[in-house]
Amino acid sequence: MTSYQDRYAASVMNTFGPPALVLTRGEGAHVWDADGNEYVDLLGGIAVNALGHGHPALVEAVTTQLQTLGHVSNFFTSEPQVELAEKLLELVGVGVGGGKVFFTNSGTEANEAAFKLTRRTGRTQVVVAQDSFHGRTMGALALTSKEAYRAPFEPLPGDVTFVPFGDVDALAAAVTGETAAILLEPLQGEAGVNVAPEGYLAAARAIADEHGALLWLDEIQSGMGRTGEWFAHLPSGVRPDIVTVAKGLGGGFPIGACIGIGAAGELLQPGNHGTTFGGNPVACAAALAVIRTIEDDNLLEHVTVLGQKIRDGLAADPRVTEVRGEGLLIGLDLVSESSADVLLAARRAGFIVNNATPRRIRLAPPLILSEDDANAFLAAWPAILDEAKA
Ligand SMILES: *Cc1c(COP(=O)(O)O)cnc(C)c1O
Repeated sequence: MTSYQDRYAASVMNTFGPPALVLTRGEGAHVWDADGNEYVDLLGGIAVNALGHGHPALVEAVTTQLQTLGHVSNFFTSEPQVELAEKLLELVGVGVGGGKVFFTNSGTEANEAAFKLTRRTGRTQVVVAQDSFHGRTMGALALTSKEAYRAPFEPLPGDVTFVPFGDVDALAAAVTGETAAILLEPLQGEAGVNVAPEGYLAAARAIADEHGALLWLDEIQSGMGRTGEWFAHLPSGVRPDIVTVAKGLGGGFPIGACIGIGAAGELLQPGNHGTTFGGNPVACAAALAVIRTIEDDNLLEHVTVLGQKIRDGLAADPRVTEVRGEGLLIGLDLVSESSADVLLAARRAGFIVNNATPRRIRLAPPLILSEDDANAFLAAWPAILDEAKA
């Protein structure tokens, strides 16, 4: 019998390279492959499976909503859609009356909405950080610095200026009265978790204000409790004009959102933008279930405590030169370029991790990861590095 990997190769476009595993089932932070092997999922669908796999609250919310009202066009609204918009405004700290939400189906679409929104300022320049990742559609790709992603698709939408992440002087030099927006990730996830230096977001806010530009924070990976806060930028006290979210928002059900704060919430007007599926009642019910569970189960505190424990445990090995991140968005640097081997050794030991760069490992496990699973990984870690000859 031909394997699913062979059938995949014959029928699915080769955009991701060959799939490493055929996964068949998940429960909590654990997944099983087609050969019956069990893994602790320390990647969580790349920061998506906030509640892990098969969480009863998420299953119940999606099932009930689909039975009740599965889809309506955007000529109409639904209760979950309005409730979720209100809830997101509350979580971002402004509340109803303090902004407006546009719903999408993915992260890149949330950024497309935000990109179009910035054009409604009458300006076109966007200043973005190097090593950023903002998505793969043409607009979001134009805002993403990675040359290998961009080059095959040029020309991309223009007037995008890249500056080194964390460099306030470079940002100040790049932003002018022609700048529509500054776009930053508070933590750069795809790059292997780069954390903004203390004061960087506040400086970006001040520079944006000086020139009448918008401050747009991409919290698609860092938001929705991942860092132990609802949004990674909240502890800074900085109030952005735009926040984009997706990934963990639906806990595995596809949904994203572009949150416009204050006047930025009024820039897109009828006819300016749209989507058939965005704001779908089932997706919104999923997101509401994720948020409610994070609240009811005190997951923000759990994420903060467990994340610190994991970072401390990983840093104890001398073959790890640096551990970065907040909560359960964790990046670490290895002494050698062995991350691909570390990934394979971890998988053989029953743990799914990500190699962000040749030297960097990224972890973004479900927010419900148990202390036992974290301890098992930390106990296995030195032997994983031995096997990988890290
Ligand atoms: C994943 C990601 C995106 C793109 O989201 P998709 O849902 O894959 O389109 C954009 N920005 C950041 C910071 C991300 O991590």
